[in-house]
Amino acid sequence: MKEAQYYIEGVLQRNRLILARTITLIESSLPAHQEMARTIIDRLLPHTGKSYRLGITGVPGAGKSTFIEGFGTMLTELGHRVAVLAIDPSSSRSGGSILGDKTRMEKLAVNDRAFIRPSPSQGTLGGVARKTRETMLVCEAAGYDVIIVETVGVGQSETTVASMVDFFLVLMIAGAGDELQGIKKGVLEVADAIVINKADGDNILRAQMAQKDYQTALHLLMRFDPVWSPPVLTCSSVEMTGLQGIWQTIADHRAAHNTANLLEAKRREQSLDWMNFLLDEGLRQWFYGNPAIRSQLPGLRTEVAAGKLSPTAAADQLLDYLRKINDTGAKA
Ligand code: GDP
Repeated sequence: MKEAQYYIEGVLQRNRLILARTITLIESSLPAHQEMARTIIDRLLPHTGKSYRLGITGVPGAGKSTFIEGFGTMLTELGHRVAVLAIDPSSSRSGGSILGDKTRMEKLAVNDRAFIRPSPSQGTLGGVARKTRETMLVCEAAGYDVIIVETVGVGQSETTVASMVDFFLVLMIAGAGDELQGIKKGVLEVADAIVINKADGDNILRAQMAQKDYQTALHLLMRFDPVWSPPVLTCSSVEMTGLQGIWQTIADHRAAHNTANLLEAKRREQSLDWMNFLLDEGLRQWFYGNPAIRSQLPGLRTEVAAGKLSPTAAADQLLDYLRKINDTGAKA
């Protein structure tokens, strides 16, 4: 393994190969790789934070890859450098990824102003999210000024993506009248814009009707953002119409939040939430990874299930055990 300096310089010099290798370190589960990745990320931190961080979700078939291909290509033509990342927790379960597959974005994959990285394929949603978050920072240090994080609506993955980006876009298609059924209410609550894709050919009218329906639905939701009401837009990713308007919307959102100092505040809050999450997860792993806890747990569970021991007493017994270890450690 090379020295950290090799990766840091390579990333800052925008070397794609070294960028890819750095991400491989981030994704590795080997402790030595993880330690190296932490050193690299810490040293790259001063070079991060200058990008537009965009999240995109939509059901399979909504047109996410077609949209990102068209939208990303347009952005590179405007002079931007675009990194496309993905969070696809289904890939660790099924062994196959529905997202982030390079072949889905053929033009963007060979565009030298774009960088596409498939979803990390191992781990829990939290683990996958950690890797993608860190990958986002490394891509920023490598000069990508638009980072697109894509996800499908699997479990909690949309809210996870929304919690790491500045702007969260929900891509939809006009359905047969029951548009709102396919999408969870929580997703609309975190959307900064809804875009009805496939507004082309015979579908234009239906897309416009869906646009009205969603506008009404969004009005009914309580939002906590003082400077932004999420708009509902239409586009055709195939015909490349409506894409400029979407970019303008994202720029307007950025300007409004910058003026009110809300972008910095949002990112600060995201960092703190993330730290809390990592602490919770770390404590959980530490607790359940303790050999004594692991050996006592099944027996206590059986006793609680049989009504012989109260849940409180069982939990206290385990926690007391850890408190004792902690006390001994503190005295030592
Ligand atoms: P994903 O699963 O969300 O990534 O969706 P894809 O990008 O793979 O698109 C699913 C299908 O919808 C493909 O056959 C695309 O060609 C088609 N599609 C995507 N965007 C549009 C669009 O704007 N208009 C039309 N007519 N078809 C589209």
